[in-house]
Amino acid sequence: MFKKDFPYFIDNETIYLDNAATTQKPLDVINSQLAYYENYCANTHRSSFGHANEATKRFEDTRKILREFINAEFNEEITFTKGVTESINFIASAYAKNFETVIISSLEHHSNIVPWHMQGRSLGKGLEVVKCNENLDFDFKDFEKILKNTPNSFVSITHISNAFGKIHNIKRIISLAHKYEAVVMVDGAQSLAHMSIDVQDLDVDFFAISAHKTFGPTGVGAIYIKKEFLEKLEPYQTGGATIHEVDFNHSTLLDSPYKFEAGTQNIAGVIGFGEALKFISHIGYKNIETIEKDVFKYLDEELRKLPNILFYNDIKDTTGSRSFNFKNISHDDIGILVDKMNIALRVGHHCAQPIMKQLGIKGTIRVSIAFYNDYEDINKLIEALKKALSMLE
Ligand SMILES: *Cc1c(COP(=O)(O)O)cnc(C)c1O
Repeated sequence: MFKKDFPYFIDNETIYLDNAATTQKPLDVINSQLAYYENYCANTHRSSFGHANEATKRFEDTRKILREFINAEFNEEITFTKGVTESINFIASAYAKNFETVIISSLEHHSNIVPWHMQGRSLGKGLEVVKCNENLDFDFKDFEKILKNTPNSFVSITHISNAFGKIHNIKRIISLAHKYEAVVMVDGAQSLAHMSIDVQDLDVDFFAISAHKTFGPTGVGAIYIKKEFLEKLEPYQTGGATIHEVDFNHSTLLDSPYKFEAGTQNIAGVIGFGEALKFISHIGYKNIETIEKDVFKYLDEELRKLPNILFYNDIKDTTGSRSFNFKNISHDDIGILVDKMNIALRVGHHCAQPIMKQLGIKGTIRVSIAFYNDYEDINKLIEALKKALSMLE
C-alpha cells in the first residue's frame, strides 16, 4: 500500500526484507536531494547570496524538524553526523573517554563495541557488559550489580538490537543508571523506523540517530545531546565552520552545535533526512506500528511452520527483525539460494559477533521488515525458504 511512494519498488521483482541494514527512500527524499543539487547548490553557513541562504535555511529546517520529531527542547541539542557510528565515536572520544567504566549490553552492534576497544578498554578493564538471559532479555539484576560496583560510569546501550530485533526497555535502563549517577547514551539506529522517540520523556543524555535506517539518505545521522552536556563536550574534530576567530596562536570556537559540525556537511543528505521525517510524520507512528505488528506476527507464525527452525528469542518485546536458523543447515547456503529467488535478506553475524559467539553460532538468517512490507512479501519469502530447504535436504 505504501510501496508506491518508493521508486525502488516500481517494476521491481525484489522482495526487500533487509530493512535493518538500510531502508528504502521515498520519492520526496530523493527529489529533495536532487532539487538541492540542481537548483540551489551552495555551501551552508558561509556565503550570503540567495542560494547559500536557501541551502542554510533548508539545512537548519531539518534540525528543527528533528528536534520536534524526538521532542528535544532546544535546536542546539541536535548535532548532525555521518550516522550512528560517527555519533558514538564522537561522544566516546569527546566525553565518555574520561569515565573509568563504560557499560554496554551483550546485544550491541560493533559500532558500540569497537570505539571502546580503541580507548584501550576490555572486559573488566574499563568495560563492563550486562548479560542477557536465554531469551535475550536484558538482565536488570546484573546491570544494577555493575552500577553499584562502578558508580559514575558511562552507559552506552542499543535501543533495538539489529541482529535479533530485541527491544531494550531503555526508559527503565536510563532511570536505573541515573539513580547511580551514570550518564546514558542510547544507540537508536533501529528505533525511528519503528517507534516514536521522546527524549525528554526518556530523560536520555545522548541519543544516536541514523537517517538511512529511517527512510533517509546514507551518510547522515545525528546525535541528540542533552543541553546540560553541551558545555562539557569538546569537539573531536575541528576546522572550517566550527570557529569564531582564528589567528596562528589560537582559535575560539562557535557555540553548539556548530562547534561540533566541522567541515562542509552532507547538505543534500541532511535536507533529504528532513523530508524522510516529514514523510514518517505524514503516515504516523500509530499506522506504522499497527501495520508492522500484523505483518511481523504473520512472519513469525509462518516461519514457525517450517521444519527444524531455531529461534533465539520469542516475539515479545521484539520488532523489525526476526533472526533464525535451520538445524544442521548453513545460513550462508540459504542466503545464496533465496537471493536467486529475488529475496533480499541478510545472513551472517549482522555486525554483532559477540552475541553470536555467546549463542555458539556463526550467524543467523535475518528477515527485517518496514511498514511497506506486506503479507504478500512474507508469502514469497516462505515459498523461497521452502524451495531452498528442499534443495538442501
Ligand atoms: C546500523 C546500526 C549502527 C550503525 O549505524 P550507521 O548509521 O550505519 O553508522 C549502529 N547500531 C545499530 C544497532 C545499527 O543497526
